[in-house]
Amino acid sequence: MRVVQKEFRVGTHSRSEMIDITAQVQSIVRDSGIASGQVVVFCPHTTAAITINENADPAVPHDILLTLNELLPHDRSGYRHSEGNSDAHCASSLVGASEQVLLYNGRLTLGTWQGIFFCEFDGPRNRKVVVQVCGE
Ligand code: ZN
Repeated sequence: MRVVQKEFRVGTHSRSEMIDITAQVQSIVRDSGIASGQVVVFCPHTTAAITINENADPAVPHDILLTLNELLPHDRSGYRHSEGNSDAHCASSLVGASEQVLLYNGRLTLGTWQGIFFCEFDGPRNRKVVVQVCGE
């Protein structure tokens, strides 16, 4: 088994945003020369996340962010964290720091409508994404 790990940067432009990073992940997978195995896409930040969801209709990421914003109000009373971004920390943990995708015969096993998203919850910032490809 071989392991290849690479990073790339994502610049975000608003406080909360979902950015389709499927093409960047596919490019790292292609360059790795690994045809079958597993790919982990990891976000090394505490106020951002990685998720897989529909990338065909831009209304879907919009509605996910709308829902998270309603579930996690920015100005909720009772927050103790002095940075004032507790809603972003909560969203990061709810959505999760990583996703795992199956790699088979040179292709990521994603559904027709699925894409991999970097989720920003406390932007705009310059972020990093780590991709590890394991297999043969
Ligand atoms: Zn914080």
